[in-house]
Amino acid sequence: MEWETSLENLKKRIQQLKKKRPAYKAILAFYQKVKEEQEKIKPSLKIEPIPLKKEWKDLLAKEGFPLLEKKDFPLDINVSLTLFNSLCRIGKEATPHMAEQVKKIEELLKNKKISLKKIFTGGFEEERIGKVADEFGLDEKVLRFLIQESIRPSIEEGLEKLHSELDPETSLKGSCPVCGSLPYLNLLKGEGGKRFLLCSFCGYQWRVDRFFCAFCGNKEQDSLGYFHAEGEETYRMDTCEKCHQYIKTIDARNIEIIDPALEDLATLHLDLLASRKGYIRPVPNPWIP
Ligand SMILES: [Zn+2]
Ligand SMILES: [Zn+2]
Repeated sequence: MEWETSLENLKKRIQQLKKKRPAYKAILAFYQKVKEEQEKIKPSLKIEPIPLKKEWKDLLAKEGFPLLEKKDFPLDINVSLTLFNSLCRIGKEATPHMAEQVKKIEELLKNKKISLKKIFTGGFEEERIGKVADEFGLDEKVLRFLIQESIRPSIEEGLEKLHSELDPETSLKGSCPVCGSLPYLNLLKGEGGKRFLLCSFCGYQWRVDRFFCAFCGNKEQDSLGYFHAEGEETYRMDTCEKCHQYIKTIDARNIEIIDPALEDLATLHLDLLASRKGYIRPVPNPWIP
């Protein structure tokens, strides 16, 4: 089966990364477990195709409105619930902070203070996750991570079913043409380094101009910069002096990318560097304090 080979390749890459960056060992081991749980559950996933109305496509083409809202993605609730429980189980063995958060969440679930079913059936609503985190003193990044990874197989399957209707070359905007979310990575591919942004929510990749800030639209070359760690030109941080935000760029001409999220995770030292330089990452990552 295809997913088995892709999981094998992922594991190989994780092994390589563990050797190259021993400090990431624990976090990479956790990531591998998350992926294994997601792959394991995929065969039982049931997702209906998303009906796309012609008017929506016209609006995207003419006005640049995203095709969908996050809550329009169909979710397999049972799969998401099962996955959430598995992620909590392995989260307890991740970092002490994650373990502590998971224990709090489990307690709240047990006492029926929060309802996962409600969170999942209402679709993915960011405000609601924020409210729940606020109300019960949870780390929003961790809660969001657990929820997002629980629904990821559903979202990816939904996107897969849409793919034939989408043209990655049509959008030039900084936000995802499918769901309107912000990108979390920038990829350079092919001859001349065509630039693609990667959606932080649905994983869609769309092509954009090479020189502009995806977050504020700034096109002034003088205020757009980048830096990278010594000897690591493959991973670059693109910075904007106008909004003081940055996006991580991976040059996919230098490495074969098995899983972009994994490469992001294995280069958190660059995020720390960017944060020390005063730049902000608009898309949160649960592993960056
Ligand atoms: Zn998206
Ligand atoms: Zn900017």
